[in-house]
Amino acid sequence: MRQLSIMVDLDRCIGCKTCIVACRNHHDIIDHENDQPGAIPNYLRVESKLEGTFPSLQEDYWVVMCQHCKKTPCAKVCEVGAITKDEQTGIVLIDQEKCNGCGECIDKCPYKVIQFNKQNNYAHKCNMCYDRVTHGLDPVCVDVCLTDALSFGEKEILLMQAEADGKQVIKKMSTQSIIYTKTP
Ligand code: SF4
Ligand code: SF4
Repeated sequence: MRQLSIMVDLDRCIGCKTCIVACRNHHDIIDHENDQPGAIPNYLRVESKLEGTFPSLQEDYWVVMCQHCKKTPCAKVCEVGAITKDEQTGIVLIDQEKCNGCGECIDKCPYKVIQFNKQNNYAHKCNMCYDRVTHGLDPVCVDVCLTDALSFGEKEILLMQAEADGKQVIKKMSTQSIIYTKTP
């Protein structure tokens, strides 16, 4: 199966959250009934970790989103078959017409990236901007990243690029498509 991926460079991410704002705009993540932009949770979150000892401290930032897993624990528990892994892209999609809002997938996702949309009563998450990438565009988070911390493409090509740049690939890679890298 083809696998499109996003690579996150921890050396470059500054935790500015521009990607989150662009994602919210693109996917219309807003509570229109109450006109509250923060009422529906984001598809992405930014995490951080302090490295080193004082006074040589460094803070790493990285974005966390759906990992578009090879094995999909979320899909396995969905009794109505609303979650599928697209053969052409490797992107894991939730069919909002089929989703009945039971929340089983939310409990099963090890990365806690599926959100419940209370306004429409369904589960939703990052779809790697399926509408854009199937038209040859990058996901919107990649497009707007101010520091080029995010790159997008075929997983194997991104891994080769990371190796050529002397980057260390961190986190387990076998079952997920999002690649996190850092200079060793
Ligand atoms: S826009 Fe880029 S630099 Fe800013 S938080 Fe997102 S990934 Fe990091
Ligand atoms: S990260 Fe969670 S929601 Fe995304 S494919 Fe894996 S189990 Fe499913």
